[in-house]
Amino acid sequence: MKSKVLVQREPIEELSKAYMKELRLYNKTKREYDVDPYAEVFRFRDNVYGIFTHSADGMGDPWMYLIIGPEKAMLIDTSFGIGNLKGLVDEITGGMPLIVVNTHSSVDHSYGNCQFDKVYCHKITAPFLEMEQTPHLWDFLTDENGNGIWLDFDKNDIIPFKKYEIVSCENHHIFHLGDDYDVELIWLPGHHAGHTGFLDKKSRILFCGDSFLSMRVGINGPRPGKPYGEYFTVHAFRDELEKLVLRLDEFDTLFPGHFIVDIANTVIPNMLKVCRDIVDNPENYDYMSVDTRGREQKFRFVNGLGTIAYRDVSVK
Ligand SMILES: [Zn+2]
Repeated sequence: MKSKVLVQREPIEELSKAYMKELRLYNKTKREYDVDPYAEVFRFRDNVYGIFTHSADGMGDPWMYLIIGPEKAMLIDTSFGIGNLKGLVDEITGGMPLIVVNTHSSVDHSYGNCQFDKVYCHKITAPFLEMEQTPHLWDFLTDENGNGIWLDFDKNDIIPFKKYEIVSCENHHIFHLGDDYDVELIWLPGHHAGHTGFLDKKSRILFCGDSFLSMRVGINGPRPGKPYGEYFTVHAFRDELEKLVLRLDEFDTLFPGHFIVDIANTVIPNMLKVCRDIVDNPENYDYMSVDTRGREQKFRFVNGLGTIAYRDVSVK
């Protein structure tokens, strides 16, 4: 990889760290492509790839996923936009028509959007992406000399900003990849108001973004000056999990936005149970800590997964 992590701002939990080290050192499907030296590509199923990149802001390294359907391919998330992601995807798919989607608008999942002409997302994510339509997106990643603060990378490898079309979708929107290969958008708010998962019914995988992570699922409440504060809550997450838990027969595993992949769907009822508990009794937390922005967070353990972190303002 051309990039090198300089500062890990958020400490990574040991099991996730060990898993990622093993995967990146020994997984036999791993491939690197000259066209994009900032990515490692893993083939998790015959037609499903994971694209690993380094985090450029010192947080957890993000995953992107690429599904190859019979007629179209789908790219889930676009990472930081450092390196030629579009060239990489075209090389893997052989230039197939491509649908690009975002699980949410956070920096580590959407800053590569401008390499593409069109990006689909849940309707609540659309205004957040609109606010990011600026060539100054990446300014905070480098110091006054143009050197990466948290990640060493060549600033010239950022593909220049270009406006792109944002297509806002309703919950349960279906993307057709050809024949009967369908992927469904499923709204899973909490970590972000418009946060979604994508259900690949053929592979029986839920690409769940940051709503399930082997480390810490952060639900931090309303963003100052931004809309939809009521959906940045454990309450909103719980309400949608009540519906998702009735659909466990439609998929087997979760592929999250960071760290451990291929997690059994049995963690969904575990997460739901904890979310119900938090809403009913927010003071019943397992431990408390302070995040990278100095905010106090309360933590609950989630069996088989990791933790969920919340604040007083992010419960209801
Ligand atoms: Zn993330």
